[in-house]
Amino acid sequence: MDSKTPGLYIHIPFCLSKCPYCDFYSSTSISAMPDFLDALFREMEMYRHRFNPFDSVYIGGGTPSLLSPEQLEEILINVRKNFHLISNTEITLEINPADLNHSFLESIRGIGINRINIGVQSFNEKTLGFLGRRHSVRQAVLAIEDAREAGFNNMGIDLIYGVPNQDMASWLETLKQAITFAPEHLSCYQLTLESNTPLGRRCQAGEFSVPREERQYEFFMKTSQFLEDAGYIHYEVSNFARGMEHCSRHNQKYWDHSPYLGLGPSAHSFQSNQRWWNHRSLDQYLATIKAGDFPIQGKETLTMEQLQLEALYLGLRTRNGICLQDFKSRYDSDLLSGKKKILEKLEEEGFISIRDGRLYPTPFGLAIADSLSLI
Ligand code: SF4
Repeated sequence: MDSKTPGLYIHIPFCLSKCPYCDFYSSTSISAMPDFLDALFREMEMYRHRFNPFDSVYIGGGTPSLLSPEQLEEILINVRKNFHLISNTEITLEINPADLNHSFLESIRGIGINRINIGVQSFNEKTLGFLGRRHSVRQAVLAIEDAREAGFNNMGIDLIYGVPNQDMASWLETLKQAITFAPEHLSCYQLTLESNTPLGRRCQAGEFSVPREERQYEFFMKTSQFLEDAGYIHYEVSNFARGMEHCSRHNQKYWDHSPYLGLGPSAHSFQSNQRWWNHRSLDQYLATIKAGDFPIQGKETLTMEQLQLEALYLGLRTRNGICLQDFKSRYDSDLLSGKKKILEKLEEEGFISIRDGRLYPTPFGLAIADSLSLI
């Protein structure tokens, strides 16, 4: 099952303020950073050499760009002390445009970070305001320009669409502005409002509404078409790359059942047929590690049937789809005979196509990939 190279994810659970749409785990108690880093290094020791070697390290959050270059360097020193990284490991740092300056960017390049992902979300001031982001359009533009100047030639930009009151013209303006910087990677996420977030509660109270399904579909298709016309490959539901070599090496591990180790509060890990996840609360994470235990909150062992379904669902989220022969040898299941009727129906209805020994989602299928998982 695990012939693929694993990836390492590190969750930095701190943000200066909480964006009102965000459901990720993060704390605003920045003063706990030193304790967190000590715990993180102990967690690395607990997994010492268990996943070797990694070919991707992704430092996400939260807001990892709140760390100083020295703290980030300490993290990478500890990673290298406990794990083996192959020579061209992709090392990504998620960045908030509000935290950047030229010397920060130069320093982090100097310590081996070779890919950055900037959380721009929008080039429209009103949309940024609605999302409660703590950066302006100007800061986002400066961050991107500074990153290029500092020599980052592998850069991703995250954007959000489907924001209440956002019209298609303003979203396309944001996309237009994004591609003027020729980022190697773009992630375009549809805004989802969980009911436990401040914006989710305001939406439930009827203050505003999110675009309906047909409208979201229109946003999705326009985005795909616009970016493909601009030379980007729409390689996963929300992800676009300027050439296959720029697809996020790390994120692909989540879609093709590669093993990954997640460290830090709320981080998930996967190996063989095992999945486990850490305590979401920083306090619990710190206390468990202090007691000398793994900070694991829960785990599950997946049956072959569950693995097959997951692989089908994840594969249909990617433009490359599923190689039927690989699927058979990896999951001991012949998809064409096992799911014959439903696959024929999906093909007839234009959601998937089966050719050259592969199962592909059509652009329409990609747009409704979440529902395809129900097959
Ligand atoms: S900065 Fe990112 S992780 Fe932090 S609250 Fe905002 S969206 Fe969530």
